[in-house]
Amino acid sequence: MSRSEDLYTRAQKHIPGGVNSPVRAFNGVGGTPLFFQKGEGAYVYDEDGKRYIDYVGSWGPMIVGHSHPDVINAVRKQLDFGLSFGAPTEVETTMAEKVCELVPSMDMVRMVNSGTEATMSAIRLSRGYTGRDKIVKFEGCYHGHSDSLLVKAGSGALTLGVPNSPGVPADLAQHTITLQYNDIEEVKSCFAELGDQIACIIVEPVAGNMNCILPVPGFLETLRQVCDESGAVLIFDEVMTGFRVALGGAQEKFKVTPDLTTLGKVIGAGMPVGAFGGKKAIMEYISPLGPVYQAGTLSGNPVAMVAGLAVLNKISEEGFHRELERKTSLLVSGIQAAADELGVSVATVSVGGMFGLFFSNQKQVSTFADVQKCDTEMFKLFFHYMLEEGVYLAPSAFEAGFTSQAHSDEDIEFTIAAAKRAFVKLAKV
Ligand code: PMP
Repeated sequence: MSRSEDLYTRAQKHIPGGVNSPVRAFNGVGGTPLFFQKGEGAYVYDEDGKRYIDYVGSWGPMIVGHSHPDVINAVRKQLDFGLSFGAPTEVETTMAEKVCELVPSMDMVRMVNSGTEATMSAIRLSRGYTGRDKIVKFEGCYHGHSDSLLVKAGSGALTLGVPNSPGVPADLAQHTITLQYNDIEEVKSCFAELGDQIACIIVEPVAGNMNCILPVPGFLETLRQVCDESGAVLIFDEVMTGFRVALGGAQEKFKVTPDLTTLGKVIGAGMPVGAFGGKKAIMEYISPLGPVYQAGTLSGNPVAMVAGLAVLNKISEEGFHRELERKTSLLVSGIQAAADELGVSVATVSVGGMFGLFFSNQKQVSTFADVQKCDTEMFKLFFHYMLEEGVYLAPSAFEAGFTSQAHSDEDIEFTIAAAKRAFVKLAKV
């Protein structure tokens, strides 16, 4: 028995499903989840000491690789001063200044402890600001697990087949309108009918929780336009895309500026951090300036802030995203070429340090319906073949992959060669 198997058996006694977040349980791929002991650069090491090239990166935060010395040293230094005060600290202002400098839509920002908190608070703020209840989201997008947003959601909710979770009151869910991602006409007709009742649109500007789907030309622009016309707030959920698809996030890459932006993952460097922010006129509606309540005992935690700032400083260095994008496209073009050569139907996509891999015979996957047609059985086999090869992919066909600065060209060449060996086996299935 491996140590991971041992630990998993022990974990299941006192932790529901043995995990503290569902997708970790390998429900989407079968088998025993790996328990990790350490991470270093592009690699993670399991409890049996086996090394893997990591394309999960703690689900996004590890854009400079695991245990980057700048991050670890910043945390070590802060530890001497204490862990938390529940009072303002200078580093919170430094963080706010940095985020507002980097993200085009941000005049003001509030720190929270997770992506879920960020989106939940941005929704409440939008409702409070507009005095309206209805919100618009897109099928297959995941915005955390707050009640209003757990309607037709992606990620683990999709993997486990429970897009509408029990425990979400129907009275609340009825205010969530779910439209099709990338369907411009549907957005227009929804707003023509209900525009004056809609508080906000929340969208992943690149969808990363139903694998990885790019916005079609005109989609984000249409969202901006209907919000301008109706007075609804446009929220870009950049928890995943923020600082990853470009330094200023998807809003910089696609040149569409939302009213509010939610952030997470990279901003905390692996510590529990989220943030939401945007136009001053809207942000002034939250407590203590305004009437919309929002708070947090540990929000802006100084240890988390110094870690996040170390990463933001690192990724602000000239050429960081150009190099990250080069490596990511090297990876996906290599995998695509290997699949094509061996006659395995695969579609790939990449943007910045984020990529998608679909077992599909469609050349372009751009809707949730397209994603649902993908072959999850093929993915399961591929996932386990890659694991044997020492490559750790997200354990679900519905998640995006992540690269980091620490992935070397050799790591990428190795991954492509491993994928090729996996495709050889799949071609025989
Ligand atoms: N929004 C998006 C786009 C996400 O990808 C996630 C998490 N994967 C969340 C929100 C929720 O963040 P958290 O898990 O930190 O609550």
